[in-house]
Amino acid sequence: MASSETQKRDVRNVGKQWGVTKVPRESDESYWARITAVMSGKPQPEPVLVQSRPKRWWLTFIWTWQADLITFLIVLLLRALWGCALFWRDGLWVELKYRCWPVLTWYKRYGGTTFLHGGMLRFGRKALPHELHHVEQGEARMLAGFILGLVSAVIALHSGSSIMHCIFALEVPWLGSWLVGYFASLAQAYLRGEDPYRGSHLEEAAYALTEDEQEEHL
Ligand SMILES: [Zn+2]
Repeated sequence: MASSETQKRDVRNVGKQWGVTKVPRESDESYWARITAVMSGKPQPEPVLVQSRPKRWWLTFIWTWQADLITFLIVLLLRALWGCALFWRDGLWVELKYRCWPVLTWYKRYGGTTFLHGGMLRFGRKALPHELHHVEQGEARMLAGFILGLVSAVIALHSGSSIMHCIFALEVPWLGSWLVGYFASLAQAYLRGEDPYRGSHLEEAAYALTEDEQEEHL
């Protein structure tokens, strides 16, 4: 019993650095595993989620870099405000502290959110497999938007539009597909009479591949 108490005290001390202000319930295994790994100095083994990418995958950043710049800035800001870890897995992710303002308030329903190549995750990173499917969806959406933007910019150029109009013709479909695409899936699910979130075809795909998860993720 004494060693258990010592362990809990150590967890409490280490946990403070990670935003864990009270010892999690023992049934909360993923948090215990994460904190114990931090204490022992061993990184928590993570499941193999994706195969390593071929070099050609990096071409993707030609059509995602604009949204990725915004993504990385948001992730770094979240890291500074409420994060406890920053890591790369098909993108830049911030792991939020176990207890922090978003998790206790407006973010308490969610396990993670993908912006494009990266995003935010609750402490424990349980939502990561789910979010990585959203990364794939976002990449494809950005490629479609980029092609449509290029075509409309070329048409604008040949019809004598100003450079400013050509830039708009490029950017509206390109960045617009990133900003609007996910919300369009919610609207269409609602119009079908389904729950906007769980009925979204993007969520249906991500949940179908990570069925064991109970928490909701964006
Ligand atoms: Zn999702």
